[in-house]
Amino acid sequence: MDKKQYSVEAIENGTVIDHIPAGKGLAILRQFKLLHYGSAVTVGFNLPSKTQGSKDIIKISGVRLDEKAANRLALFAPEATVNVIEDFKVVHKMQIALPDVIAEVFRCPNSNCASHGEPVKSRFYVRRQKDQTRLKCHYCEKTFSRDSVTEA
Ligand SMILES: [Zn+2]
Repeated sequence: MDKKQYSVEAIENGTVIDHIPAGKGLAILRQFKLLHYGSAVTVGFNLPSKTQGSKDIIKISGVRLDEKAANRLALFAPEATVNVIEDFKVVHKMQIALPDVIAEVFRCPNSNCASHGEPVKSRFYVRRQKDQTRLKCHYCEKTFSRDSVTEA
């Protein structure tokens, strides 16, 4: 194990989202409703990072993110890492990869979309174009920028 200097307090059990691009930590806190768990959340903004220059980090005590949440995280920060902590040790590193399909998480921004009136789950196909992430709705076949879907 390599020695790491943590500038944010270590947690005993929970989840650490590390290597968030600096400036995206607040959006992730909000999108994941990380404060709604009622657990202790520790954040660090603009921390020095060897690989990124600077980064944000979020530590949530007593909460494990599920795969759906990890998918959503990939939309905001595909370069982030998610570590599950037990007894102050990393016991699992979740794979964060931009998924091909995102279902159930976001509503289609198109108010005429069939997904709103029907008892169906939203479904988007994820595409990476240059450094833009775009989502195409399965139902209305419209394509949206990442931000217009995640902030709708
Ligand atoms: Zn749609």
